[in-house]
Amino acid sequence: MARTKNPTAATLKSWETRRRNQEKAAGIHVRSQDAGGSGVVQGRKDWRPDNVSDNPTGNFTRANMERLERHEDDHRNDPLEQAMVLDGKGNLLFTKTSDEPHFVLFNRSETSKMNGSVLTHNHPSGNPPSADDLMLAVEMGLREIRATGPGSRGREPVLYRVGTTRPWKPEHAPAFVAILDGARAATERRIMKGELTVAQANANWPNELHEVWSVFAEMYAKDGVYYRREEKVGGK
Ligand SMILES: [Zn+2]
Repeated sequence: MARTKNPTAATLKSWETRRRNQEKAAGIHVRSQDAGGSGVVQGRKDWRPDNVSDNPTGNFTRANMERLERHEDDHRNDPLEQAMVLDGKGNLLFTKTSDEPHFVLFNRSETSKMNGSVLTHNHPSGNPPSADDLMLAVEMGLREIRATGPGSRGREPVLYRVGTTRPWKPEHAPAFVAILDGARAATERRIMKGELTVAQANANWPNELHEVWSVFAEMYAKDGVYYRREEKVGGK
């Protein structure tokens, strides 16, 4: 593998070009990366649209809401991923325990039940949902995917919610990936310029990912897509 000793103008330009092309391919416009901080977009640290109800589909009974929240409270700090899948009224479809910290796998009989469902799981990292989480949501027609986890660096525990009130569209997943790649490229650029250390970039990545989701959700709010981050103040 070739190793880059110093960023050259050509390297930086090629990253910039790659990012722009990805954004253009996805038909998106990401705001200036140089407005301060290292984020794609600044100033939305707690994206919490008011029009998203606590009740994921509006049809969960109180008892089913309580079961969902209890599951999240109980597994927020687990070292391995645990998932629970509920139907549109919040009735339990199945739970799944992973023996891996970073993912939980579903078989075909499980995924066949997922259309219109609400899936919750824990992220031991405390990070926002991954691109894979969105792929699953889009492919299986999830109504909402939730990820909960411990707070990092003095933060409160968190719950992230990604969903849509209308069907997912084929372009949603590639657009997300393009925004994500743009954020990665912007971070790389700042490292190469000496504005960020790799350690700082890693520490800040959950915030970057949060910004990526915020941009994505704002872009596709017209399709019913939403993203929400909630701090579980005093949560376990
Ligand atoms: Zn996940």
